Amino acid sequence: GRKPTLDRNLRAHPRNWKLYPSGMRVLALLDGTLADPEAPLFRADDLGVMRGDGCFETILVVDRKPRELGPHLDRMERSARLMQMELPDRESWERAGQAVIDAWPWESEPEMGLKFVCTRGIDGGDGTPHGFAMGMDVGQETKRKRDGGVDVVTLDRGYSPGLMERAPWLLLSAKTLSYAVNMAALREAESRGADEVVFTAEDGTVLEGPTSTVVLAQGRTLLTTPPASGVLPGTTQGALFRAAERAGWETEVADFPTSALFESDGVWLASSIRRVTQVRAIDGTPIKADDSLHTEIVDLYESNY
Ligand code: PLP
Repeated sequence: GRKPTLDRNLRAHPRNWKLYPSGMRVLALLDGTLADPEAPLFRADDLGVMRGDGCFETILVVDRKPRELGPHLDRMERSARLMQMELPDRESWERAGQAVIDAWPWESEPEMGLKFVCTRGIDGGDGTPHGFAMGMDVGQETKRKRDGGVDVVTLDRGYSPGLMERAPWLLLSAKTLSYAVNMAALREAESRGADEVVFTAEDGTVLEGPTSTVVLAQGRTLLTTPPASGVLPGTTQGALFRAAERAGWETEVADFPTSALFESDGVWLASSIRRVTQVRAIDGTPIKADDSLHTEIVDLYESNY
């Protein structure tokens, strides 16, 4: 029983939220109690801090309703399994998530990114995992990109065909806390004057973005990369494909070459927080980015909720 420490500010506010210079934050522990987002929570020798040894999920919550909560929790369990790591039970995550949702200032912030973070615990300890749930606002930049689209660069991820099956210790397709490489790729994109990244494999096939799934349209078919290629199975892509199939689209999960990005009728980056963001240019070359097709894709995704 870790006891939460509510600071004076939290006590003073009936809603328990706090707006920091970095944005809105609401923090809950796995027993469902709120905690001060500014107070220390992890020991310095926690393996999540020292080695990025842990897993996480980011869930979009709109007007108090979490999207794809089941698939997110399923995926977190899958990540923990791949890492051979113990994970607190589903009820703990649901309880902590609900505490954050209950404390969030919905009147002023109608959407929230809900993070579930879990580490392997203390180095040399008994393996008890440490976790929390935290609500964060969706930044203006993300919202702008949803509306205005993004320019991307393709960057080599170095995966060879069959790597995931051959080398399970690489944890490909697990959502681990080791995202330093993903963040470095985004800085590389920025240095090249682009907003986003599409990772490619050694054989030139398309993988995913550092925090997104790549989806493309070819006629009335939506296409994405299979998790067996080492990418994260996307919950947003899953939701989009579910709706597309209901609406009579074909969907396909198969490897495709980088050239397909340039020849398709549209390319999107899908993830919980960005939803479905349209790609406007790749490696400096404009691609087909039809406004009405974009609206149709967004409407399909939104029809789930
Ligand atoms: N691929 C990677 C590497 C990611 O980090 C993410 C999400 O952050 C996604 C894909 C998209 O997953 P989801 O749609 O479930 O958010």
